Amino acid sequence: MTFDTLGLSDSLLRAIVDQGYTTPSPIQAKAIPLILDGKDVMAAAQTGTGKTAAFTLPLLQRLMGGKAVRPNRCRALVLTPTRELAAQVQESVRDYGKYDEFSSAVVFGGVKINPQIALLKRGVDVLVATPGRLLDLHGQGFVDFSDVEVLVFDEADRMLDMGFIHDIKRIVKLLPVRRQTLMFSATFSAEITKLAQGYMQDPLKVEV
Ligand code: AMP
Repeated sequence: MTFDTLGLSDSLLRAIVDQGYTTPSPIQAKAIPLILDGKDVMAAAQTGTGKTAAFTLPLLQRLMGGKAVRPNRCRALVLTPTRELAAQVQESVRDYGKYDEFSSAVVFGGVKINPQIALLKRGVDVLVATPGRLLDLHGQGFVDFSDVEVLVFDEADRMLDMGFIHDIKRIVKLLPVRRQTLMFSATFSAEITKLAQGYMQDPLKVEV
């Protein structure tokens, strides 16, 4: 199996070649076509399985040629439990999107908020965030969620373990109902399944 059969653009395929990837990982082979098709997808995948590319590549493709970014808004929102993971996801967005004109930003707590406010001002295609700082920025009027087309929960089980459930609930309430939702988690626990039932539309399950 090769990447060219998955339905990704030439620009993304070139970026994949630059990364040195030759074959999609099992999670990528299963999840990418479903995400490109606009489905809500719940994927069980541990770190190291290529999960980041499994959602980032089709996410970028879905944003191509769409609406323009508006000030303080984003078109895709990726929620992660930690700042390290948030930074890694944004790096992947940059790597895979290098031949396209995507803008992205990462926001997390524990650092000054002003530079993040400045980054958000013009709006971005992809915003990667930890829940607490994102809510702070929203509360201060620097993030508007009304243009969100795709929501991704990355390491959803860890977000729940770290006590982010209330923040997540508050954030999801602020998002458009009509959107694509993707959930990546190491395991599908009862809690994760409940979260998916609340926030996803007929999610397709992918396990590897
Ligand atoms: P992740 O599971 O997203 O943390 O990715 C683990 C590592 O696998 C990262 O260093 C990726 O750059 C790498 N990777 C992702 N997809 C592939 C692939 N199809 N072939 C080879 N390496 C990959």
